[in-house]
Amino acid sequence: MQGLTPFRLAPYFRTRIWGFNDLSPWFDYKTNGEPIGEVWLTGEMCAAETGPLQGQSLNEITAAHGEALLGKGRGGEEFPLLIKVLFPKEKLSVQVHPDDALAQKYGEPRGKTECWYALDAQPGAEVALGIKAGTTSEQVRAAIEELRLEDLLAWLPVNRGDMIFVDAGTVHAVGPGAVLLETQQTSDLTYRMYDYGRPRELHLEKSLKAMRLSTRAGKRLPEYVHGHSILINERYFRVERWSLGGRRRNDAVSRNCIYRCSATRFSGRRQSEGRGRGI
Ligand SMILES: [Zn+2]
Repeated sequence: MQGLTPFRLAPYFRTRIWGFNDLSPWFDYKTNGEPIGEVWLTGEMCAAETGPLQGQSLNEITAAHGEALLGKGRGGEEFPLLIKVLFPKEKLSVQVHPDDALAQKYGEPRGKTECWYALDAQPGAEVALGIKAGTTSEQVRAAIEELRLEDLLAWLPVNRGDMIFVDAGTVHAVGPGAVLLETQQTSDLTYRMYDYGRPRELHLEKSLKAMRLSTRAGKRLPEYVHGHSILINERYFRVERWSLGGRRRNDAVSRNCIYRCSATRFSGRRQSEGRGRGI
């Protein structure tokens, strides 16, 4: 971390047709325009709002201070993780992401493996995670063409505090009713496989090529160690949950991480806040 002091990144609000016009109590953000569905916490356009690099975007900071930010030998790389909060008011389209090998065949640096941590979930909230066992690729293609793919998806109830792993190749969709903290490889490669008959463009052939019928996706149980929990520890990311009671500082949290996100629950009007700190 030589040459860099901790700084806080301002969140970046992304319009999505399936989002909300009011993000309270999570963020003080209301709009009369297009709804907001995603709040990017480590997007390349997120700007430092504290410290000597104030005003610079994460993209600029990573380009100028890559080794200090990411580690030795990693200068010139992009910030590797995109962390977002998802606010789905409606069900999102059914999607799939390629893995690194397939992405590289298309000339892209990496695929996309991701995970979702449920910051909140209403009763009945669910996600689709994978294709039901025993289904063939031909059956998936036929179900898409006959507008009934939802029948072949494995739907999973979501409860607050769940950690759900979504490896590349897993066909997936997010339903309404949950607020999800998503951690993913930085990548733009998303193939829309199915949209319940809605008129948005589909990427049928690419999505079928990226799809794997059997993956490691699913809920992960936390591992409790020394006063905190490891929610997931995978090749591309490790997400931990720490309880920071009162004003207690816990330096151990920041020793080995490049990004910290806090979601703190208050009893007042503003129940929670999400904000990021790059370290
Ligand atoms: Zn996804």
